[in-house]
Amino acid sequence: MDAVRTCVGCRQQGSRKDLVRLVISQNNLSFDLNKNLPGRGSWLHKQTSCFDQAVNRGSFNRAVKAKLSPESLAKLKEQAEKMLEI
Ligand SMILES: [Zn+2]
Repeated sequence: MDAVRTCVGCRQQGSRKDLVRLVISQNNLSFDLNKNLPGRGSWLHKQTSCFDQAVNRGSFNRAVKAKLSPESLAKLKEQAEKMLEI
């Protein structure tokens, strides 16, 4: 059975295999490549458009319950560009 997750970007649901996991640790977010890091996670489609939507909606800030610094966001975006499909 495949668990259904909600993308923090477009808010559409998708199956676990179509989304990447972001994990929250120390008020920061990073991609959880193997989907096995402990902690609360957010899910995102493997598309930069969803990443951008999540940024615009402030979804990541909501996820970490803090405002991500521009540096954290830039780092996340850098990871996203490597991992996600445009
Ligand atoms: Zn999405």
